[in-house]
Amino acid sequence: SQKAKDAVLIPRYVRVNELKTTVDKMIKVFKQEGYTFSFIKDEHLADLLVFHPRADFHDHPHYLAGDIILQDKASCFPAHVAQIPKDAHAIDACAAPGNKTSHLSSLLKNTGRIWAFDLDQRRLNTLKKLTNKAGCKNIDAIHGSFLEADPMDPKFDKVEYFLLDPSCSGSGIISRLDHLIDDEDEHEADGAKDERLQNLSDFQISVIEHAMKFPRAKRIVYSTCSIHAQENEHVVQTILTKHPDFSLAPRSSVLPTWQRRGLPNEMSLFNDQAQNVVRTLPSEDLTNGFFVACFVRHQQTGVKRP
Ligand code: SAM
Repeated sequence: SQKAKDAVLIPRYVRVNELKTTVDKMIKVFKQEGYTFSFIKDEHLADLLVFHPRADFHDHPHYLAGDIILQDKASCFPAHVAQIPKDAHAIDACAAPGNKTSHLSSLLKNTGRIWAFDLDQRRLNTLKKLTNKAGCKNIDAIHGSFLEADPMDPKFDKVEYFLLDPSCSGSGIISRLDHLIDDEDEHEADGAKDERLQNLSDFQISVIEHAMKFPRAKRIVYSTCSIHAQENEHVVQTILTKHPDFSLAPRSSVLPTWQRRGLPNEMSLFNDQAQNVVRTLPSEDLTNGFFVACFVRHQQTGVKRP
């Protein structure tokens, strides 16, 4: 199938956990191990190294020690797009198993505070293990629905940044060679699929709207590993229509050099803004299929929108 062909192409991405080591130190280690000509620094993300698809680091001592994280390139986008300054407070609303949480923690250099919610206790336990192993000290894991979190709770007083990576269809996920999985999406009847996507997008919209209720929310990153417009551009269009106090962060702060942007025809009310969101396409971009948008609250001076 196409997915199997794409899997062959997806490189092994290695994210360097800067809480424990540095990119330069890891490059030195890999060179000493003989990888001299078989990896490069990623051209978009400073903490990412790119290896041959068959490179396997699951038993590597630096992986076992939490110095490196095996994470697809596209799923490293949201934490970078969040641009959280040191000491800031953030909520990771749908956080388990925690790769993006540990990435946020790494970019914050263990300063500030990250509240990591997940509904699923077992997955939250995985998050706790993974973030401990990664040396994260600025994370509070909360078992429960983010939708039930009280935006007026004093402990969230300083929260300005949100990473929202809610459940999605997963239609962008290309199984790697070492993790072949079946794609249910391809076998589903059209009616059932439409209903499932509708339910997912209703949930995704409710998660974004809940984040917008936090009084100091100012930068909200939304991501999916879906290639369906219903979970991506359509969700963005609904939010922009219903919440004129928020707009999309400009392309200049959302991976400006990444070429593949949103589909203008799928957000026709705001088609000039499709360039502000990011898409990835497995067959072309050597990553899983992914989508990232970033909402920002207007300053009091109020930028006028059409
Ligand atoms: N961000 C994670 C990462 O990078 O490792 C992956 C998140 S996964 C796409 C979505 C997660 O949302 C699941 O772990 C699911 O249990 C959780 N979830 C679903 N509904 C939720 C809710 N209402 N509140 C909090 N978490 C929820």
